Amino acid sequence: MITINDNYLKLQASYLFSDIAKRVAAFQENNPDKQVIKLGIGDVTRGLPPACIEAFHKAVDEMADDSSFRGYGPEQGYDFLRNAIAKNDFKARGADISADEIFISDGAKCDTGNIQELFAKDIKVAIPDPVYPVYLDTNVMAGRTGDFQNGRFDGIVYLEATQTNGFVPSLPEEEVDLIYLCFPNNPTGSTISKAELQTWVDFARDNKALILFDAAYEAFIRDDSLPKSIFEIEGAREVAIEFRSFSKSAGFTGTRCAYTVVSKDCRAFDSQGNIQKVHELWNRRHCTKFNGVSYPVQRAAEAVYKEEGKAQTAELIHYYLRNADRICEEIEALGYDYDGGKNSPYIWIDGRTDSWDFFDMLLNKAGVVCTPGAGFGKCGEGYIRISAFNSHENVDEAMARIRRELS
Ligand SMILES: *Cc1c(COP(=O)(O)O)cnc(C)c1O
Repeated sequence: MITINDNYLKLQASYLFSDIAKRVAAFQENNPDKQVIKLGIGDVTRGLPPACIEAFHKAVDEMADDSSFRGYGPEQGYDFLRNAIAKNDFKARGADISADEIFISDGAKCDTGNIQELFAKDIKVAIPDPVYPVYLDTNVMAGRTGDFQNGRFDGIVYLEATQTNGFVPSLPEEEVDLIYLCFPNNPTGSTISKAELQTWVDFARDNKALILFDAAYEAFIRDDSLPKSIFEIEGAREVAIEFRSFSKSAGFTGTRCAYTVVSKDCRAFDSQGNIQKVHELWNRRHCTKFNGVSYPVQRAAEAVYKEEGKAQTAELIHYYLRNADRICEEIEALGYDYDGGKNSPYIWIDGRTDSWDFFDMLLNKAGVVCTPGAGFGKCGEGYIRISAFNSHENVDEAMARIRRELS
């Protein structure tokens, strides 16, 4: 008899985006001439930087010719890309990371989802609330939780991000082994200071724990005092793994390229308590289950680090951040409390009411779609997320409508 992994039955079906779609469709039917503006999505909207497209085309042409054709590449990624990343994303910021500590992949979603398989089933896992759902669901699939009760999985330590702590969770009071952190945060848009991040690194060192740091939105950091990488923090090499992606920084959501940083000093422990190198384990896993990102895509990603590429990606980020500024300005004028939007494309608004009521009000009064915070966890209840990923024209129009209808 073929039996299934019963843990999959514990997963909560996510009705978030289908619920949103249903309510939008109903609104559209009742208001056929009103144009709905979507500020709910977590996907970029602008084309790839021209430097990336040029490199992409050139590499595709190379594939056509026997003399420059490339078959299987190194599973960990081509040196040209790993070297460019180490130099520009780490060494330039004083973070001691070398090219052979960088693993190129087709997405930070896969990497943040897959990394947990290196660790034992009975470890204690700490996960933020609200949260990007991948961290939680992949641990449910792996059998590290009990059942879902009252909006929470038994066995998980939830790191609550609330107004009280400025949306930066406090250190856990109980023992934990694996800690997920994401800054700038999705969905709250909050950031973490170097001093705060240092307390997490120190905690991990003191408790033989490991931090998984998702920095998918680092490109949106404008405040130069904030850390872009956990490897800017003293002592992180032994106790942290970092996830980065070209998805939000350079518009690669449909092109697919990301990377994971595992330093050669990163340690975990076997069941006897002996130190084991996580770099070797992740390398083994990566080579066994992954065959590399396509050559043209890696060339397109490399172009992000060329002179024109740097200027063009900076312009791209600046474009979305102008939207974020516009959204913050309007929300502030309406008198709502919010976080994010300064070093992040997301604005997290305290709706002072049920998440879905606020969602319905924005949709029905202004024809603007947001994401109800309750969809990201228990602590998201009462909040909504507005995304800056759209055109200036659409954001300006959405904000003008919100001002007209809500003030
Ligand atoms: C968008 C996003 C990613 C990036 O995922 P990719 O698979 O690289 O596109 C990672 N983490 C968070 C929190 C995100 O929102």
